[in-house]
Formats: sequence, C-alpha cells, structure tokens
Amino acid sequence: MQENHVTAISEEHEQTCWGCGLRLLLVSYSPVFKCGWCGAITNPQNRIRKPDSTCFSLWRRIRDRFFVSVLLLFMSFVICAGFWAVYPVVFSINYFCGVFHSTITAILSLSSLSTFCLASFKSAGTPLNITWGSYPVVGKDSLENFTFCAYCEKPKPPRAHHCRSCRICVLDMDHHCPFIGNCVGAANHQYFIFFLISIVVSCSYVIGMTSYAAFHTWPSNHEPSALVTSLLLKQILSGIATSVLSLSARGIILIYLAFACISVEIGIAFLLWQQLCYIYEGKTYVNHIKGDYNMGGERGCQNILRFFSCPYLAYRMLLIPSNAAKMQESSSKIL
Ligand SMILES: [Zn+2]
Ligand SMILES: [Zn+2]
Ligand SMILES: [Zn+2]
Repeated sequence: MQENHVTAISEEHEQTCWGCGLRLLLVSYSPVFKCGWCGAITNPQNRIRKPDSTCFSLWRRIRDRFFVSVLLLFMSFVICAGFWAVYPVVFSINYFCGVFHSTITAILSLSSLSTFCLASFKSAGTPLNITWGSYPVVGKDSLENFTFCAYCEKPKPPRAHHCRSCRICVLDMDHHCPFIGNCVGAANHQYFIFFLISIVVSCSYVIGMTSYAAFHTWPSNHEPSALVTSLLLKQILSGIATSVLSLSARGIILIYLAFACISVEIGIAFLLWQQLCYIYEGKTYVNHIKGDYNMGGERGCQNILRFFSCPYLAYRMLLIPSNAAKMQESSSKIL
C-alpha cells in the first residue's frame, strides 16, 4: 500500500478521506490509500457491504443458544451422573478417600463452569468510540491504520475484526465460538484458554475415575482381565456383549461417561494445542486465516507469558538468557 500525502497538484486524482473528511489529491490513482493527516486507510471495498438479513442474524442467535444449552446440559450431566455412578465405589474404599475425591470434583466443576461463564458472558472486547469525520476535530495521526467498518458504520482499529454473529467489531478477534455463544477476543481470550485447560483436566479425571469404578462394578463372572487375555477376537466380543448386557444402569453410565469424555478430550486437547501455537506465534486464528502475519509481531515464549500475565520476574528470567545469547552471538560476529 502506498502512502499518499496532500498535494497541491490540481491535475491529480481527488479522493476524500473517510476519517477526517479532507479532500486529498493523489499522485496516482489508487482505490486504496492512506491519509497523510489522520492516518486512516480508505478502501472503497469496505463501503459496499450489504447489511445482514434479519433471518441470518436470527439463525446465528438460535444456533449459538442451542450449542450453549447443549454444552451446559452435557457438563451438568457429566458432573451429576459421574458423582452418582463413581462415589459409591470411592466411599466404599474409605471415608477420607471419598471426601478427597468429592473436593477434587467440586474444584474441577467450579473451575469449568466459572471459566465457561466468564468466556461466554463477558464482552470479547469492543473498540472505544472515537471521533471521526471532520478535519479540525480529528487530530494528526489519531486514526493511524484505522479502516472503516461498513456494518457498524464507525472506525475499526488495526487489529479488530467485525463479527457478523455478534454484530460488533472485536479487538484482537480470534474466532466466533458457537459453543460459548460469543466471540473470543482481547477481553475474554484468557478465560477461553483457562476453560479449555479446565475441560482437558476434568475429562482426564472423569476417564480415570469412571474406568476405576467400572473395573470394580464389572460383573464377576466376566472379568475384564479374562477378556484381555482371551486369544480369539470372537470370544472377546461375545464376552464384552454378555458383560454389558448384565451390567446395571450404573455400569452403563460409567462406560458412556468414559467414552464421551475420551472423545471430548481429544477434540478439546487439539483445539487447546492449536490455540497455544497461535499465541506462541503472536497471532490469532483470524490473522492466520487472512494471512496477516505482520500483525502478530515476533514469535516466542514471551508471547505465552504476556498472554497469561505472568509475573515480571518470570518474564525477565526467560528473556534475559535468550537476549544474552543473542548479544554474545552478535559480539562474536563483530570480532
Ligand atoms: Zn484523513
Ligand atoms: Zn464492525
Ligand atoms: Zn462473534
């Protein structure tokens, strides 16, 4: 993109800056230009966006509410059914074992539900309202690299994106997540990551506990160890089938919870890994999709520490050795 300044050459192309309203004379015709006064970027493409239909907005709202309800129901089911199916086994070992696991369950349930609520109901981060449109009011460089959002009809900061589901511009937008019914942006990205971590840890715990309880409640005439040691596949399958049929409701719930949590954990662990990779690289999912690699800055662990707001000491400890190594490298080059 070429930076153009106000010139006094009358035969050049005349354009109007949306940011400050100044009429600019450009040295060459360019549909996309940057104002030399306020720094706003004018792109005629940004002006011709059709507003979303009511049906489209309604469909997205219904879809988000449906996914949020399904997720909340699933989390409540796992907590209640897990407690009902596992705890008779845990309390049968001894009372302290039961109290210990009840405390862990309460902590994990509370952290999953609270981080979900924070990620879901907290605003993802909307840009501040800024004065624009007339020359004396808009100061020099006050709209540096701002573009115009045709949906919101107001200035859009450099790292912001418009979300058509939330119908607002979101700062540092990562993506719109239908499962939390909200955008993941500057203000709730941390809560979203904590929610993913909490779900991965909770699912691992549920898988461990349900497997342990299932082993204890498995019908004694069909020992799992006997199934494992069985050589013929046909025998193993028929053994499992008869064992499942003779299981109680509690046993079926245990098996269902274990398999459901394994599937959820695989999906969420992959999403968490992908998110951490983007944070490490200093970009968001939207930047990745749009190929705005210059927006993110330098990749490195400092991005992860900054994201989690780690104490200054940890930040320094991580950066000093890498900076010292860089300095040593450059001094050896000079020698
Ligand atoms: Zn301007
Ligand atoms: Zn917008
Ligand atoms: Zn959104």
